Order: sequence, then structure tokens, then C-alpha cells
Amino acid sequence: TGRLSGKHCLVTAAAQGIGRATVEAFLREGAVLVVAVDINAQKLNELTSDRVVRRVLDVRDGEGIKALARDHPDIDVLFNCAGIVHQRPLLETTDQEWNNSFDVNVKSMFLFCREFLPKMISRGGGSIINMSSAASSLRGIDRRCVYGATKAAVIGLTKGLAMEHVRDGIRCNVVCPSPVASPSFGSRSTDPEDSDLEHISFMENKRIGRLAKPEEVANLCLYLASDESSYHTGNVFVIDGGFTL
Ligand code: NAD
Repeated sequence: TGRLSGKHCLVTAAAQGIGRATVEAFLREGAVLVVAVDINAQKLNELTSDRVVRRVLDVRDGEGIKALARDHPDIDVLFNCAGIVHQRPLLETTDQEWNNSFDVNVKSMFLFCREFLPKMISRGGGSIINMSSAASSLRGIDRRCVYGATKAAVIGLTKGLAMEHVRDGIRCNVVCPSPVASPSFGSRSTDPEDSDLEHISFMENKRIGRLAKPEEVANLCLYLASDESSYHTGNVFVIDGGFTL
């Protein structure tokens, strides 16, 4: 029996990076079922376990999320991992970019929580994990103004939700990683326009001296998903190798 035996889980952004590593950790620790949500069908298909339900869904799609909640009324662990990194200075940011960042990074969490919470409450509780970032209310990062605003909003959303449902057996916590060596980080770091890469300053700061691995963040999410974290709710979990020191 694993640390998640008996649990039904849902992970967004499950096809790669932190989401993918977390799906694998949940399976390894005996989750009954992991619903893996992503827009990337091809990468999602790499998750072949018979305990994975793959669902190609855009986290901005409210109707799709409603249908998913109808199909899976027994979710115990909801990990809202999906997010995009907008990396432009505020003065070059369009309304559309601002709105889309908030839709993907924040509104999606509102939609998933609104659809999945009622069933969680009627089943006696559950654990919600929201993905924020060290680039949020914790730290300002160059060219991450919009991103940081969305990730600070995720912290506020998490605390408010934790407060509203603390007596329903619902725990809701937020994870704030420093730069993680995920596929999207790799593509951002080769962008020639991005002259102020956070990982360069991270390395120069000589703290732990390397990026986080997706598996290291997944281990934290595993703890928050399991009953081991039963006294944590509304808490902000910074995992940053000293980035915010
Ligand atoms: P990633 O960026 O490499 O992959 C993200 C996944 O999300 C992809 O599989 C993509 O297809 C999916 N996705 C994107 N938009 C979607 C949408 N609208 N609907 C459904 N799926 C969608 O993964 P990552 O770097 O591990 O990032 C995951 C989360 O962690 C994000 O919220 C990110 O902001 C956060 N985070 C990442 C880092 C980092 O340095 N990588 C640091 C802190 C926080």
C-alpha cells in the first residue's frame, strides 16, 4: 500500500514537466486512478498506465470542465498545475495577453474548484493543490510582471478557498517553485530575447546552484495530496533551493 492508496486524483498540465512527474509519483504511491488533463494529446498518450484516464481538455473550457466533473464525481485530490509563462515587459503587453494569462493561470483554478468541490465536500473532504511560483508576491522577476501577478492571485485564491472550506474537510495549499528544469523552461531559456534569464541569476547567486527537478516538486505535491499533510491548509509551500533568500 502506498501513500495515496485509495485516492482518486486529477492533475492538469499532466503531459509534461511538473504535472507529468506528479502523475507518475501519484501512480507510484498507489493512487486508484489519476485523471490526466492536458491540451497536448500526443504527449498525454505517453502516460500508458491502466490507472490513468487521459483527457484532452483546455483548462479555459468551462463546459468541458463541467463534463469532466460529471464523469469523475469521486476526486479526492485536485492538482491545478496548468499555467503559462508570459515573458514580456509590462509596456509591451497587450490586453489579450493579460487576459489570457489570467484565464489559463487563475480562472482555470476557479473553474476546476467550483466544479469539483461540491462532490469533494459531500464525500467528506479532499486536498486541493494550486500551482503558483516564487515569481509571485514572493519575488519580482524581470519580464514576469503579468506572470507574477497571476501567480500572486493564485496564493490569494488558495487562502480564501482554504478559509471557506476548512470545516468541510477540504485542505487547499499552494506550491511556489523557483525555476524548474521542465520542457517549457528549456524552450524559454533558448529565447534570444530573454536576456535576463532567471536561471542565470539563480546560478550566479550560488545557492543550491542548479535548477529544481520536476520530481522534486512532485514529491512536495505528493506530500500535500496524502494524509501526511493533514494539518496543512491555506499554507504556502516555497520550494526554491534558496532562491528567495
Ligand atoms: P510546462 O510548461 O513544460 O508544461 C505545461 C503543460 O501544460 C504542457 O503539457 C501544456 O500542454 C499544458 N497546458 C498549457 N496550456 C494549457 C491549457 N490551456 N489547458 C490544458 N493544458 C495546458 O510545465 P512546467 O514548467 O512544469 O509548469 C507547470 C506549472 O508550474 C505552471 O503553472 C508553471 O507556471 C509552474 N511553474 C513552473 C516553473 C518552471 O520553472 N518550470 C517554476 C514555477 C512554477
